[in-house]
Amino acid sequence: MNSAVIQPKRVVILDGGTGTSLANLGHAVEDLTWCSCLIKTHPNDVKKVHKDYFLAGADVVVTATYQAFVDGFVKQFGVSKEEASEFLKKGVELAKEARDEAEIETGRHGFVAASVGAYGATLCDRSEYTGVYVDNMSIEELSEWHMPRMKTLCEARPDILACETIPALAEAMALVSCLEKLQEKAWLTFQLKLVEVVAAAAAIVVAVLVAVVAAIIAAVVAAAAVEVVVVLVIVVVVTVVAAEVVVVLVVIVLAAVAVVVVVLVNSSSSSSGSSNSSSGITSSICKTHSMKNHFTLSPWVKPDPPCKRDAKTTAYGDDVRVALQAIVSCPFVVAVGANCFSLAVVDDFLSYVQDLPLFGKPLIIKPNAEKSEHDKSLTKPFKIHERVADWAAAGACWIGGCCSTDSTDIGQIRQAMEKDPHSRFIAKGETLV
Ligand SMILES: [Zn+2]
Repeated sequence: MNSAVIQPKRVVILDGGTGTSLANLGHAVEDLTWCSCLIKTHPNDVKKVHKDYFLAGADVVVTATYQAFVDGFVKQFGVSKEEASEFLKKGVELAKEARDEAEIETGRHGFVAASVGAYGATLCDRSEYTGVYVDNMSIEELSEWHMPRMKTLCEARPDILACETIPALAEAMALVSCLEKLQEKAWLTFQLKLVEVVAAAAAIVVAVLVAVVAAIIAAVVAAAAVEVVVVLVIVVVVTVVAAEVVVVLVVIVLAAVAVVVVVLVNSSSSSSGSSNSSSGITSSICKTHSMKNHFTLSPWVKPDPPCKRDAKTTAYGDDVRVALQAIVSCPFVVAVGANCFSLAVVDDFLSYVQDLPLFGKPLIIKPNAEKSEHDKSLTKPFKIHERVADWAAAGACWIGGCCSTDSTDIGQIRQAMEKDPHSRFIAKGETLV
């Protein structure tokens, strides 16, 4: 591979979703090797997608080999292992051809990163979103699985490898081990933990409504009991059961209102007998429990415990800071970060990792568009280019898109970054890594 030094702080524009762009051309692929099979069946479309990204302003394009693996091609197309290996190399060659053609038109030199996806992606069971398979595979086993295809991809001489959507630190360590053996450079981006924020938000809204009802009941019961203490006890019980920070705050506020109501009621009337007050409380508690059970996460997300720290946690559950630090010291890992994660948590991610010592290596973000199937979380949708300058200022150096982003998004990102002196196009003769 080419060898040079990455300029710290230089903003590099990466490409967007390869699968999305191929889907835009009419290829809705759900096969064993996902859109990688199009390297064999529709090479011109794969090349067009790569070229469109270069023309839109991407400095680096990632090959369509994310889900490519020799045994997959053998199984899918009934070819020999040798032929299957050639398909992997072809994936790199198509991107290089696209780069060369775009360079003639633009005069700008681009770079090719050979995509290496997570092992789980080849299982076609969505386990790349959980990394659950690392429980049953050693780092050595994962390394043995990744090594042949990484070696084959490197034989096609990409500028760099792109280890993408890696769900677990254990798998990242396996990839690092391969890089050290191959003496090849790569960037590595983690997949962050998914959370259905829409469902969580809905749960909070409903929980707040329950809190309101509970507080009213508390006020009525307390008024009947003529005891402010009763209000406080009920508030504590409801709060513990709800177990939501928002609910806690709302309940506290409502409790204050309830206390005022009780005081006012007590000042104007005497107490009377209460009946069935406990059944009202019990009803509220049960209702809260049933709501929490109702708002379960998607089948591919660990349902327990609910995941709300997705910006800080890999898909498998490693602390992102620990994971990044564990791999960034490897000399063959030239850039690190996250891809295929929610736009909604980019700020949280950057703020969580911004003070990490990365040895001058670039921090990568490649988030999904708000319309991604993996990413239904935004209550106020926006596009990457609307925030990209802020993210660059916050430390992101290599920036692109993932699921549901296309060359239009990348063009908009390039445009948005034009005013940033760190985001100039890579000059002719200049190297990436
Ligand atoms: Zn993605």
